[in-house]
Amino acid sequence: MAVKTLKFGGTSMANAQSIAQVRDIVLADKEAKFVVVSAPGKREAGDTKVTDLLIRLYEEPTERGKREIMDIISSRFGEIISGLGLNLDLSGDIERIFAHAITDATYDYIVSRGEYLSAKVLAKLLGYTFVDAADIVRFNGGVLDADLTQELAGEVLSKAKRAVVPGFYGTDEKGNIKAFSRGGSDVSGAIVARAVHASVYENWTDVSGFMVCDPRIVKNPKVIEMVTYRELRELSYMGAGVLHPEAVFPVNVAGIPINIRNTFDPKAKGTMIIKYEDLLRGKFSRSENAVITGIAGKKNFVGIFLEKQMMNNEIGFCKSLLDILYDNGISLEHMPTGIDTVTLVIDPTDDRTLADTIAAIKENCKPTTIEMSKGLALIAVVGHGMNKMKGTAYRVCKALSDADINIRMIDQGSSEMNIIVAVEDDDYEKAIASLYREFVE
Ligand code: ASP
Repeated sequence: MAVKTLKFGGTSMANAQSIAQVRDIVLADKEAKFVVVSAPGKREAGDTKVTDLLIRLYEEPTERGKREIMDIISSRFGEIISGLGLNLDLSGDIERIFAHAITDATYDYIVSRGEYLSAKVLAKLLGYTFVDAADIVRFNGGVLDADLTQELAGEVLSKAKRAVVPGFYGTDEKGNIKAFSRGGSDVSGAIVARAVHASVYENWTDVSGFMVCDPRIVKNPKVIEMVTYRELRELSYMGAGVLHPEAVFPVNVAGIPINIRNTFDPKAKGTMIIKYEDLLRGKFSRSENAVITGIAGKKNFVGIFLEKQMMNNEIGFCKSLLDILYDNGISLEHMPTGIDTVTLVIDPTDDRTLADTIAAIKENCKPTTIEMSKGLALIAVVGHGMNKMKGTAYRVCKALSDADINIRMIDQGSSEMNIIVAVEDDDYEKAIASLYREFVE
C-alpha cells in the first residue's frame, strides 16, 4: 500500500483544538503513516510561538527568568494535553530541558525542543511510534548529510511502520543537536517523505495552497492547483514563500509531489507541486488550461545603464563588469544588452557598495555613459503554458500599456517559462493587478 508523509506546521499544532483537527486528518487517511510536526505556533495574532519562547529561554541570563519562561512553555503544553484529554506527563522532559538550559545547553538544542515535545504529544494522541529526529537526521560540516540521513531514516522508519517525527533538527557528526534554519520542519518533512518512498508529501499549513499572486494586491486571487518545481522556484525567488526553500530538494530528486494543504479547510485540494517531466509525460495533467501559473515580483532593484562605443567588439567587456559585481558581493538579477549598451539589474545594496561599484566600472571599463536608476520593480509572469504559445509577451505588454504603465525592461529566457518585466516601484501593484486581470480573471 502506498504511504504518505504529512507535515503539520505551527498553526496546526498551536492548541488542543487544532491538534484534534490534525488527528482527524491523519486517522481519516489509511496511507497517512508518517507525520512530521512543528512546535506549537501562534494561537491568535499577537501570540508567541513556542520556538520564540525557547529562543527567549536561551537568551535570558538569569536562572529565575529562565524558570519563568520555562513555566510558560510548560503551561502551553499542559493546556494542550488537558484539552485533548491525554494521559501524558511531560514533566520529566520539561525538567531535563530546564536543567540543560541553566547549565550546558546549546542554542540549537533549546530551540528545537518545541518540536520534540509537540511530536511526543501527537504520537501519544495517534498511538504512533515517536521517532526522535536526532536518530535519523544527520548533519556533517554544518550541512545536511543527505545520503546518511536517507539510510538512517529509511532503516528506522521502515521498522516503526507508523511514526511521528519532530521537525526542525537532527544531530551533527559528534551527536550534538543541530537545528535547521527557521521554518526547517518543512525540510524534515521532505526528508522523511523521501526516506519512506512516500507517494506524496502533504504539507499541512493554514492556507489552501499558493495563490496565483499576492493577496495583498489582488483580493482573493485564485489558488494554483498545480505548479512544477521549476515554476515554483521562479515564483519563490520573487518572494512567494510558503515553503522553506530547502524543502523542495529531497522530494524533487525522488520525484515525490508535494501537496500544500490547509488544516482548517481539509476538503480544499490545495496546491500540488510536481516535476515538469511528470507533466510532460502525462502523469499529471492540469485541469485549468492556463497560459500562466503565477505572477510574483519584488520592488527595489537597481539598474545600472552603460553605453560604450563599439562595446560589441570588445571581447571581455561583460566579464569585467561581472568581475566587479563579484568583487563587491553584488548579486546580478538580469543583464539585457543592446549592441553598444548593457543594463545591469541588481539586488538592492547599500549606497557605499553601489558607489564603489560604479567607481570601479568607470575606472576599469571606461563607459561613455553610466547612469543609475533606483526603485525598479521586477515582475515575473511564470508558466510552462506559454511555451510555444504565441502572443504571451504581446498580452503582457498590452495589459501593462492599457493600465498606463511604462515597461522599463523586458526579458524572456529561451526556456519560455517566464517573462520578466521591470516597472517603476510606484507602478508595481497596478502592474500585478493588470496582469492578473489579463491572464487569470
Ligand atoms: N518551529 C520552527 C520555527 O518556528 C521550525 C518550523 O516550524 O518549521 O521556525
